[in-house]
Amino acid sequence: MVLLGTRGGPRLSKGSSWPTSTLLDVAGKIYLIDAGLGVTRQIVEAGYDLKDIQTIIITHHHSDHNLELGPLLHTKWVSAIPRKTDVYGPPGLKLLLEGFYQSQKFDIETRIKDEQQAPFSDQYNPVEYTEGLVLDDNTVKVTALRVQHPPIYHCYALRFEIGDKSVVLSSDTAYFSQLSNFSRKADVLLHEVMHYEGVKKMCQRLEKVKPNLLEHITNGHTRCENVGRIATEAEVGHLVLNHFTPTDEKGVSQIDFYHEVRKTWAGKLSVGADLMRIEI
Ligand SMILES: [Zn+2]
Ligand SMILES: [Zn+2]
Repeated sequence: MVLLGTRGGPRLSKGSSWPTSTLLDVAGKIYLIDAGLGVTRQIVEAGYDLKDIQTIIITHHHSDHNLELGPLLHTKWVSAIPRKTDVYGPPGLKLLLEGFYQSQKFDIETRIKDEQQAPFSDQYNPVEYTEGLVLDDNTVKVTALRVQHPPIYHCYALRFEIGDKSVVLSSDTAYFSQLSNFSRKADVLLHEVMHYEGVKKMCQRLEKVKPNLLEHITNGHTRCENVGRIATEAEVGHLVLNHFTPTDEKGVSQIDFYHEVRKTWAGKLSVGADLMRIEI
């Protein structure tokens, strides 16, 4: 597994991490989970080719998880890669792709005529999913659990069964005890994480432009100590922290997330970073 983007939220800052996306390499079969800004570049930086991307699964329709889905498919298309990618996402996926098509209709139609490209729609097969089985392709079996990420209803944690191994990705969620059952004995749990004191600082700084930000963030994300609790209850093999909220806030560094999570989790712990590889 390669973490392509590990920051929480859609902001960018110089030299820092990209918004969320994760790549799962199962014996050369590539699954991409989420497609935040920067994903196309990060796939290449991680040493993969866009033609390797067979399956994409979007966990929810916040922009830090789906903003670059259309541009990724378009870049694959203009690179003359004939492979059709299966794209899974919660309801709204087809609308998102149709909206992207409309935004690039001029370019797409020009290239089809001028360069005799195949239709853009040949590039992907969109499938909308909700809770339960997402896909089973004999390489992996993926199931989804609806998590708590208000005001978004369709937000899903994903469990990948790969032979006798398993990986769970929490997506964005408030502390949700059912996630520990869903993650039971997983070899790897990739969980989002929120540092409460850091979030308070950030929200004070942004109070004038986003007066409801503290409520929005704390209602929809999981404090460090609760991330450790989920991992402990689930008895996972390896907890990997991801989607850091806040990122690049003065006075809060990755080591602070680590120490907070350590209070409730004694097992193997990694602080995620862009392009970090995790063995399963
Ligand atoms: Zn997010
Ligand atoms: Zn979100």
